[in-house]
Amino acid sequence: MTKSLLKTQAFIDGTWQQSKTKKTFPVFNPANEQEVAQVSDCSAEDAKKAVEVAQAAFESWRQLNPKERAAYLKKWHTLIIEHVDALAEILTLEQGKPLAEAKGEILGGAAAVEWFAEEARRAYGDFIPAHKNDARILVTKEPVGVVGAITPWNFPSAMITRKVSPALAAGCTIILKPAEDTPLSALALAALAEQAGFPKGVFNVVPTSEAADIGNVLTSDLRVSKISFTGSTQVGRLLMKQCADQIKKVSLELGGNAPFIVTPSADLEQAVDGLMACKFRNAGQTCISANRIYVHESLFDTFAKAFMDKVKALKPGPGDTDGVDIGPLINKAGIEKVEKLVANALENGATALCGAEKASDLGDLFYKPTILTGVKDEMTLCCEEIFGPVAPLYMYTDTQEVIARANNTEYGLASYVFCNDNKEIWEFSDALDYGMVAVNEPFLATELAPFGGVKQSGIGREGSKYGLEEFMEIKYRLLGGL
Ligand code: NAP
Repeated sequence: MTKSLLKTQAFIDGTWQQSKTKKTFPVFNPANEQEVAQVSDCSAEDAKKAVEVAQAAFESWRQLNPKERAAYLKKWHTLIIEHVDALAEILTLEQGKPLAEAKGEILGGAAAVEWFAEEARRAYGDFIPAHKNDARILVTKEPVGVVGAITPWNFPSAMITRKVSPALAAGCTIILKPAEDTPLSALALAALAEQAGFPKGVFNVVPTSEAADIGNVLTSDLRVSKISFTGSTQVGRLLMKQCADQIKKVSLELGGNAPFIVTPSADLEQAVDGLMACKFRNAGQTCISANRIYVHESLFDTFAKAFMDKVKALKPGPGDTDGVDIGPLINKAGIEKVEKLVANALENGATALCGAEKASDLGDLFYKPTILTGVKDEMTLCCEEIFGPVAPLYMYTDTQEVIARANNTEYGLASYVFCNDNKEIWEFSDALDYGMVAVNEPFLATELAPFGGVKQSGIGREGSKYGLEEFMEIKYRLLGGL
């Protein structure tokens, strides 16, 4: 089953193609660092070709009735669900997360496809009472045009469906550049899109090891009307600069530095379980992972003990092995970053309750689930995304103090509060300067809600009716002399 979806060539104009340069690049399984495939290494020339065909396909795709576009998306959704096991296997193979998590990601990504298939028919406009009796004001929504999408490796499937399905539902066509570490999930989704019968050129995938070359084409070509990017704030900033000359539209889903606050009124067990899910999913490599855990002094020791008991029971290992809770980190750079952040914290007075080293018996990219106490706001791991299975516990005393500390970051993506006091719930959810606030819940992402950040965590939203609007322009028509 997996084999038929294991594609290694670029998907351009509805056909599987070698790169013009005929070059390939390797994809590795992070669990054992073995090569699993050689994938076509697209160049700027391939990207230009993809732009050309996406532009050609746009005119007829946008003319389809939304119900017809929805039918293609529904077919794609059905096929993704039918192939969930094979897609999850491919995801785990190249990304490393446990199979059950990979399956959850595929299903979550498929839910976005279904949602936007439904939303395609609800791109409503307005009929506005006019300023003159003989005039009418109409507002309609139109597709922005050809979209360039660039996605990261940490959710190699869901980050794609979240962009591709609203873009296609809106009537746009799209060129996707997946992450170098994880192109296979993107190509497998394209294989199912091919089976769903999307017209040629509507959805194109250009894998590459030369991200900047493809990025340059997508940001500088006037035929591309919009860039939708998920990844680091650093690269988001660069792409936004590149888009500035053409006033090209951008949606940016960038990094986070999520606070996770446990107040005196919290249900301790619920908070510990919430933190387990929020911190260790995907080995801590998510933009909404709890990065700074603030626990009220009155329950700090009890919380730390209960948390440690659960963390010690976690089982790291290869994602395709039964019973494994945590897979490897994605690559050498990923594990080196985590080691550096932990070393810096320990050198500056933090204490490790558990972990704080590689799980070298499993392989070079495994890191033991780690809890740190005695951490301070000045430490590097407080300011940067850890992106690993490391949970630093900070003690706090006062509500206003913890709100100020939680907001003291350039990021503003996800935040979490565990408390059972009504007044506190409103106080925290009003004051936290984040695009998303979750109260007594670790799972924020759903296709039904607007996912995205404020400050340097990005621009725009994915999911919900707002996610469709990211791919639409507003047209105002004034009909006079009536
Ligand atoms: P990244 O280094 O920014 O890479 C993201 C994508 O950008 C990859 O496809 C990468 O290609 C590409 N890229 C890198 N340099 C580029 C350039 N000069 N021009 C065009 N494209 C370029 O981020 P990452 O390490 O893959 O992902 C982790 C980051 O993503 C974290 O900061 C995380 O918080 C963020 N993230 C945010 C969200 C959200 O919804 N807000 C969701 C998931 C992840 P290569 O792979 O070839 O380098």
